[in-house]
Amino acid sequence: MPSSDRDDRFVDLLLLRMNPPSDTKDRPYYTTGSIVSAAMIRVVLLGLASMVLSKYASTNVTWWFAMISIWGIGIYPAWLQYQRFNESVAQIEDGSLCGACRHFNPTNQLCSLLDAHVVHADTPPCEGEGWEPR
Ligand code: SF4
Repeated sequence: MPSSDRDDRFVDLLLLRMNPPSDTKDRPYYTTGSIVSAAMIRVVLLGLASMVLSKYASTNVTWWFAMISIWGIGIYPAWLQYQRFNESVAQIEDGSLCGACRHFNPTNQLCSLLDAHVVHADTPPCEGEGWEPR
């Protein structure tokens, strides 16, 4: 997760917003790693909540709570966020200089030559000087 002046990055990670905060437009805010981390943290928290619930509720209630909450709150939002991330990468891959360059790594939206994130399809970080065909 990129750094920012904001002090609520952990909360942002857990929220899995569909749009990044407005002060983080210079880097991809959500990446594969941050999405997987958020999903794992959510699943662990929900697992702990289910364990607490099991002390007070029946086994059936606990299992339904665990299954529905882990899917609906843990995995599904992360999947939606991952789809959004893939759309953003597809925009860059589709017809941009970086998308046709052998140095572009779509997994983390990174230029491996400069070790810099490619954020906008029309503004390659190298300004075209490092481009090499795939
Ligand atoms: S070398 Fe230039 S064109 Fe290639 S991925 Fe990096 S920034 Fe984009």
